[in-house]
Amino acid sequence: MILDETGRKHVVVTQHAPPDGLDLTRPDVAFIVPSDLAGYLATQHMGVRLYIIGADPFLWEMHEIAVAAGLGEGEIHLTNTGGTARRVYCAHCKTVTDDVTQTTLPCSGCGLPLAVHAHFSRRLKAYLGVLDIKQAV
Ligand SMILES: [Zn+2]
Repeated sequence: MILDETGRKHVVVTQHAPPDGLDLTRPDVAFIVPSDLAGYLATQHMGVRLYIIGADPFLWEMHEIAVAAGLGEGEIHLTNTGGTARRVYCAHCKTVTDDVTQTTLPCSGCGLPLAVHAHFSRRLKAYLGVLDIKQAV
């Protein structure tokens, strides 16, 4: 798991177990259970980076708590681990394809083979799809 090192405190909340590679011995890393998130964030100051890991409904439930606690979009990192259908934004032609359940797809706009990344854009409300070089060769 990669941390945003511009933060002073890294708060991780997941739907399931802590992610692999998360160093819980670091004094600036905290693993919080979902029911404690609001109370924990209320005690924090500037410099918090929140990492939410889970399926879509969980992501948005925790995201709402984080925004209510005053965190900005740049301080919240979302990682979808659910198997639910997703909305994918083509980085090449800007077409949005809905109900994508696979990790690669042909873009419904430009037809390029896309690989769906874990990065979710709040602004676009979609996952980023970029040229899948394995299929484009
Ligand atoms: Zn496209």
